[in-house]
Amino acid sequence: MMVDQQEFDRVLLTLSPSIAIQKNVSLSRMNTWRTGGSAWAVAEPKTEHELQEVLELVRAHRIPLAILGWGSNVWIPDAGIPGLVIRTKSFEVETHWVGNQVIAGAGVGATRLIRESADRDLSGLERIVGVPGSMGGMVMMNAGTHLGEVGELVREVEALLLLEDQVEKRVYKPKIQDWHYRGNSFLPSNAIVVRAKLDLHPGDPEQLRALLKDLLERRKKSQPIDAPSCGSTYRNPDGIGKKAWQVIDAAGLRGHKIGGAQVSEKHSNFLINTGNATSDDLLLLMRHIEETVQKTQGIVLQREVKPLAIFWPDSTASQSAW
Ligand SMILES: Cc1cc2nc3c(=O)[nH]c(=O)nc-3n(C[C@H](O)[C@H](O)[C@H](O)COP(=O)(O)OP(=O)(O)OC[C@H]3O[C@@H](n4cnc5c(N)ncnc54)[C@H](O)[C@@H]3O)c2cc1C
Repeated sequence: MMVDQQEFDRVLLTLSPSIAIQKNVSLSRMNTWRTGGSAWAVAEPKTEHELQEVLELVRAHRIPLAILGWGSNVWIPDAGIPGLVIRTKSFEVETHWVGNQVIAGAGVGATRLIRESADRDLSGLERIVGVPGSMGGMVMMNAGTHLGEVGELVREVEALLLLEDQVEKRVYKPKIQDWHYRGNSFLPSNAIVVRAKLDLHPGDPEQLRALLKDLLERRKKSQPIDAPSCGSTYRNPDGIGKKAWQVIDAAGLRGHKIGGAQVSEKHSNFLINTGNATSDDLLLLMRHIEETVQKTQGIVLQREVKPLAIFWPDSTASQSAW
């Protein structure tokens, strides 16, 4: 039996006071779309030890759980998350550089990682320039651009596994075939990424800085980076020689608005919150795009954005709206 909210509030009091907990907190300021309802509570463990303690509590009391990184690729229902959200914004924010390798905690941000690697004249992370995510989120999503994907650099992933009878530490050494477009097949759905080891290689510092500057400028020109969004909403369809934004454009949906959600005028694969969007507005807009594209072009668009979902102990608990 899962706990109810009253019992949840009681067991939460048994956690060490050093673990930051916010109760009944809105998740809308914790994701880049700036929408979504509240969670029973958000826990922000800072260390692996604190994460282990939170997970032990979750396991022992069968507390419904969802994991949030920087919230740059998730849709959060307006009804919120009826359970605990572990947020990794302040989790293991350490980097350890040795030779051409870096070990980065799950809460380390992409921009910081790129800056630190450029300072060491190391190359490889150009492939994630402009991706606003955490190390954990990037591993889960196999974040990437036309220059490549983060999985090509990852040598090792440390994770905690939430099992019925224990919380177990595992170390994975993924091979290239363990990664796929915006995902991986080696981490089970009950794994929480703690840190990852990446292999980089020496680069020409001048060339590297010029490339990074150019990539960021190109993003600024082509993407609505000042408006709340989740980046690309859809994958590019396979084998039709057209990108998702071209397909949405061809359906006449550039600028189309439902409530406060709008197909960006600047980039049709970006759905933006114009100020007062709800998650329902965004979902209705997605459904409208998908239906129109299918009706007019016979193309089935696949969402790249994911719902923030309870995955433990019952993975079907919070996915119905999606
Ligand atoms: C303006 C903009 C541009 C973008 N451009 C790109 C791009 O070019 N390429 C690209 O690939 N993506 C892009 N994205 C999407 C996003 O930045 C990436 O998917 C990123 O990797 C998500 O990281 P996050 O920390 O925000 O993860 P979140 O969005 O918080 O979470 C994503 C998923 O990972 C899970 N998760 C997060 N942390 C952990 C953890 N430690 N352990 C287990 N599960 C975890 C969550 O439960 C969720 O299922 C863009 C987004 C924006 C807003």
